[in-house]
Amino acid sequence: EGFWRLFKLGVSCSRDPGKDFLGVSDALLEEIAKAIKFPAPSMLPPEAFSVVRKSFDARKSLKEPKFVYTVDMDVNKLLDLEPCTWDFIFELEPKIGQIEHMPHERVSGDITNIIHNYRRIYDSAVSIKDGDNQLSEPYKHHTTKKPKVVVVGSGPSGLFASLVLAEFGADVTLIERGQAVEQRGRDIGALVVRKILQLESNFCFGEGGAGTWSDGKLVTRIGRNSNSVLSVLKTLVNFGAPENILFDGKPHLGTDRLVPLLRNFRQHLQRLGVDIRFGTRVHDLLVENGNVVGVEVYESGSNSKFNSQKLGCDAVVLAVGHSARDIYQMLLSHNTILVPKEFAVGLRIEHPQELINGIQYAELAAEVRSGRGRIPVADYKVGKYIDGDDGDERFSSPIKRSCYSFCMCPGGQVVLTTTNTAELCINGMSFSRRASRWANAALVVTVSSKDFESLNFHGPLAGVEFQREFERRAATLGGGNFQVPVQTVTDFLESKLSGASIPPSSYRLGVKAASLHELFPSYITEALQSSILMFDKELPGFISSNALLHGVETRTSSPVKIPRSTETYECTSLKGLYPIGEGAGYAGGIVSAAVDGMYAGFALAKSLDLYQGSM
Ligand code: FAD
Repeated sequence: EGFWRLFKLGVSCSRDPGKDFLGVSDALLEEIAKAIKFPAPSMLPPEAFSVVRKSFDARKSLKEPKFVYTVDMDVNKLLDLEPCTWDFIFELEPKIGQIEHMPHERVSGDITNIIHNYRRIYDSAVSIKDGDNQLSEPYKHHTTKKPKVVVVGSGPSGLFASLVLAEFGADVTLIERGQAVEQRGRDIGALVVRKILQLESNFCFGEGGAGTWSDGKLVTRIGRNSNSVLSVLKTLVNFGAPENILFDGKPHLGTDRLVPLLRNFRQHLQRLGVDIRFGTRVHDLLVENGNVVGVEVYESGSNSKFNSQKLGCDAVVLAVGHSARDIYQMLLSHNTILVPKEFAVGLRIEHPQELINGIQYAELAAEVRSGRGRIPVADYKVGKYIDGDDGDERFSSPIKRSCYSFCMCPGGQVVLTTTNTAELCINGMSFSRRASRWANAALVVTVSSKDFESLNFHGPLAGVEFQREFERRAATLGGGNFQVPVQTVTDFLESKLSGASIPPSSYRLGVKAASLHELFPSYITEALQSSILMFDKELPGFISSNALLHGVETRTSSPVKIPRSTETYECTSLKGLYPIGEGAGYAGGIVSAAVDGMYAGFALAKSLDLYQGSM
């Protein structure tokens, strides 16, 4: 009974209907029939099957590249089959390996159901007691006095926390220093075309947070099939994302899809009564007797006390991302404990997309070029552990560290993620079609407290100072006016600047040839050089005079963690404050930030007595 999940169903490229096909094709039904040992594929009702995951496998060890499917089978929908065909169903056993029984129903799509499902997920996460995770209690809306919550930041974590809290009846004010997506789009246009950086409305700040003008990859390391991830993805579908994000092995939205989605998200929050204030920056917390009792806000861009306003509330959710360095300083002024954490720094490499397609797909690359849309533009993921004994004497590191590719954007472009004119840092973004001529990815090396200390940076914000140091050096090397310093990979490996012409870059604000091998301390440069040599063994052609390194990539994740209770999500050193998302050190991408916001919303709803779960 119930659902059975069928894994690893391989369909050849020539028989796959294409990346936007949501149904179950004849070719897939044949593979399903093989997996369940059913003799007549054409008798299987397609509506009994739903695609859970689809990925493309072009490993060179395979005879032929394939699309690989995971499919759920709803046994109830097979009941109309002829009784004589039922035997095969009784023979299905979880032990078969390719097949697993799924005891839970799937999350359904409308927002009320999603919220109900959130409750179930939250309950099962926190109330292991008695194994009871039933949806027993209805919402407990306060009709007289609703508790007031201020959520600071409208990135994925702040949006999902606001959604859950508003659904449970809290009086939510969402404060965002940047602008709504419509104005933010114009500000980013002015940056890219006329080099005008709005300090409060840019690639990091504004509606949707850092995730809006981004690559919009929805891959996550927190369990892509988990119910919490699925609930977040379903919510995005509810607000306009295409359904294929629910089953693509590497789901991707792209900026052009994120912008209307965020507008729908905003309208839903407003319908729930959330007061959203754009262009408003939280400058300070109001603290009384060790409890946060509100926030002081300024109109963004203004530092005048005369324009400030004080907002009282019962709790503050801090979802400010990792570029709000002023907020870290402000927290320290209230004696909040911040703990420096490991992160990674490096450079962004860019290749012609055709080169990466050729490396990954060989002759199949021609099909990508044809634009028929079956085969996705190629990406890659590479990583290496540097242990000082990798066989290449030129590059031996005394400290063990990881070097890896990060935030790879096929068909994307390199963008400026600076929030300050004296500093320079970059990242990658793309549009949904991923049709640009370039493929870029960060190549980064892990750094930790010892490295910060080696540059004389100490204390809780040592990691922030470490980032700043290289962002300033990059701004100087680039020659100012947001020009990015670049170097060919071949020159970087030889630690020289040959003067040969540099290949074109997707970065729109200008590039300048520079000695990037001199930007970082030698242990970072050498770790990068050594790993690039190894990556070229895995992806022959990766080292190319057409591959251009751009500096610098420093904001891969938060340089600090704000300790909080695992159960209530409340900050351990400041009551009434709920630090969430990437800036607090609890997420590393769009989906994980959204999931953190969702769980924090539940925990806070429970503390505010808005929700009686089974705890
Ligand atoms: P953020 O998204 O950073 O949001 C924080 C918000 O708080 C911002 O809108 C900011 O304006 C606001 N804020 C800050 N301070 C204040 C204040 N004092 N008052 C009021 N508001 C304030 N991740 C992926 O998973 N996939 C990708 O493809 C991807 N691509 C990326 C591309 C780029 C260019 C960048 C910059 C990041 C990318 N990321 C990607 C990372 C991802 O965007 C972040 O991990 C995610 O957005 C973090 O969510 P968050 O809610 O914790 O914080």
